[in-house]
Amino acid sequence: MELLNRLDAQLQTLAQQSLVRTRRVVDSPCGPRVRVDGRELLAFCSNDYLGLASHPALAAALQEGAGLYGAGSGASHLISGHSRAHAQLEDRLAQFVGAHLERPRALYFCTGYMANLAIISGLTAGDRDAAIFSESLNHASLIDGTRLARAAVQVYPHADLEALAAMLQASTASTKVVVTDSVFSMDGDLADLPALLALCERYGALLVVDDAHGFGTLGEHGHGALEHFKLQSPYLVYMGTLGKAAGVGGAFVAAHETVIETLIQKARPYIFTTAAAPALAHALLASLDLLEGPEGMQRRAHLQALVAQLNDGLRLTRWQRLPSDTAIQPILIGDNAETMRAGAALYEQGLWVGTIRPPTVAPGTSRLRVTLSAGHTHADVATLINAINALERM
Ligand SMILES: *Cc1c(COP(=O)(O)O)cnc(C)c1O
Repeated sequence: MELLNRLDAQLQTLAQQSLVRTRRVVDSPCGPRVRVDGRELLAFCSNDYLGLASHPALAAALQEGAGLYGAGSGASHLISGHSRAHAQLEDRLAQFVGAHLERPRALYFCTGYMANLAIISGLTAGDRDAAIFSESLNHASLIDGTRLARAAVQVYPHADLEALAAMLQASTASTKVVVTDSVFSMDGDLADLPALLALCERYGALLVVDDAHGFGTLGEHGHGALEHFKLQSPYLVYMGTLGKAAGVGGAFVAAHETVIETLIQKARPYIFTTAAAPALAHALLASLDLLEGPEGMQRRAHLQALVAQLNDGLRLTRWQRLPSDTAIQPILIGDNAETMRAGAALYEQGLWVGTIRPPTVAPGTSRLRVTLSAGHTHADVATLINAINALERM
């Protein structure tokens, strides 16, 4: 068939560019050690930053939730799928980050991808006088949100607040929305949220903060980037994901109640989808307890010690460690094929590290993306350091 031949040719082009992506089947729970193809690997590629994904308390809460609510929600939130567990979770999440907002309310989503589509399209769709200002390294889901909204988008260069200020100043739009990751997912660095918020307040723009990698890991109580920077403003629209540090799944938006009510009424990615299983919301209540409590604090402290260990231990000359104090520790290699060879060589040694290529990152900036987790030991990280240092010299 003509169409299949064309698709095949496209797939072959991807292969020639070392851009084919493959999936590996994992036979064990997510954790520092995973079983793949009958081998045990030491994994540095999940976003389970606190090691909670296989925590017994969360697995037990999920089972308890299934006992209370069954398996599925059966409908969208606006029909009959909004369970008591979802409502409790939203109240808890509003408290969790509410100190940083005005009249806080939270809305739970099946995934962060959908939350971002909902925020951007819900706030701007159909508004001819809306403008979105988007940071160049933003996550794909934020970019897709602007596509769904069909709104006017201006992209400002990474961390270039002067460029953003000039765009805001020149804009005549009455609805202005600035959108940024807090922790950049492929670089690991932090956005200057205090400066961004000051600009937004000055120009009357909402600041949408995607804290997928900060929720649970940043701030003394794990409340995320807003706690880390001690921010408080009615201009903030906060998005946190619950499948990374929180160890379960889904995401939420927390903001002024008017913003949340707008999303409920207008955001199609919220309205036209079946609510996540209530048992997930029930398990997330247990996850929030862990995050805020002494165990969460202890796990965050251990994670920070592992980050410091990696920073001290890597001795790179050709490759480049990107400056990051977060659990995301990228090693820039550049070439796609060399990145894939490095990933394969580590894998041979039983070390599973993510390899990141275009279009996830810009051409010529392929990299290993090491992610650390509180589930790792110092010995695990020492094994990784030695392997990477030796590999780079070969
Ligand atoms: C993972 C991620 C998302 C998407 O969240 P999911 O819950 O995985 O859909 C959104 N934004 C950023 C920055 C992410 O890293």
